[in-house]
Amino acid sequence: MKIIIDAGHGGKDNGGGTNKYFKEKDMTLKISLYQYKRFKELGIDVELTRDKDIYLPKNERTKKVKNSNADICISNHINNALNKNAKGAEVIHSIYSDGKLANMILDELVNAGATKRRVFCKSLPYNPKKDYYYMHRETGKVQTVIVEYGFASNEEDTKKILNHWKDYAEAVIRAVCRYIDYDYKTGTPILGEPKVTLEQMEIWAKNRGATDKFISAAKVYYKYGKLTGIRPDILYCQAAKETAFGNFGGAVTEDMNNFAGIKIKNPTGDKKSDHETFPTLDDGVRGHFNHMCAYVGISPIGQPHDRYYVVKSLSWAGTIKFVEELGGKWCPNKNYGYSILNDYYKDLLNTDIEEHYKNLYYNLLNDYQMLKKDYIKIKKVLSDIKLMVENIE
Ligand SMILES: [Zn+2]
Repeated sequence: MKIIIDAGHGGKDNGGGTNKYFKEKDMTLKISLYQYKRFKELGIDVELTRDKDIYLPKNERTKKVKNSNADICISNHINNALNKNAKGAEVIHSIYSDGKLANMILDELVNAGATKRRVFCKSLPYNPKKDYYYMHRETGKVQTVIVEYGFASNEEDTKKILNHWKDYAEAVIRAVCRYIDYDYKTGTPILGEPKVTLEQMEIWAKNRGATDKFISAAKVYYKYGKLTGIRPDILYCQAAKETAFGNFGGAVTEDMNNFAGIKIKNPTGDKKSDHETFPTLDDGVRGHFNHMCAYVGISPIGQPHDRYYVVKSLSWAGTIKFVEELGGKWCPNKNYGYSILNDYYKDLLNTDIEEHYKNLYYNLLNDYQMLKKDYIKIKKVLSDIKLMVENIE
């Protein structure tokens, strides 16, 4: 299943759904980028026709959709009418579609607070066998729906769009998930971009008393985050929980490079020998990501460890998308995922780099001033000695 999201208009084409508060091209881009990110987080293959403010001629736009091999195209727009009273959301489908997806989208938009207007399709006036809108006519096998979130020409719609565009964007995600029978869940996504920088991770670990090895693992987590699409900030927090910031203290020891309590193929208990040993730090972090790959349903990097295949064979393998769902699956404790978030991730998010450097600066300044005082004392002593020597001579 693949989705392509089309942010209507762009560049020199502002779009008709423009008013003094927003340009249609900007609002549709904002909605589209949000939806792109959300589909990614849900583990659904997704593409955009444009990700910035550029002009796309309509044949180029439709070619992109056609060539994407996507199953569904969501084309985002804001409506406009001369009649200022015209309001509400509209979803337009192809004359060759049954309108099921379009109706689901409108229903979810209404659930999210939009005014209900209509679902419709339209053919060319001189050719009833052809779609009126080029986004339907020229996009081949891709099922395209045009979503008009409301009227820029209507005051009530404008207010709603400004305040609730994110809710509306999310409503479309929900509708698409329902339509493709995909489990729509919310929580803290395991997949996607990290919400913190590498430096923040390192400083956070240091503040929490991490070992040098654990701090140096941060950049390896970041590396495998980029390679897999799994969030390194989340896995680093999980590793912090599993290893007590690299201090270990349980059955697993530091030399095993096992940062996530990964077991061997057939463990008999919870002893040291029941846990996997990875040859290097890099292998250990890779093993952690690979293990998570079996949970979220993406391909591992390189040769996975034995236990990966055990997880892969479970009925729910590949269906876990949120940290909250890890409880009872990664380990028996139902609160496991919540603990990663509440006891580690929250604190990581609040790690203030600026504060860290400010403290560092004041510490250095303090050291400098102390050294300066010592220097002055020593200089005085030296000159006294010099005087004494001269007097002896
Ligand atoms: Zn438009």
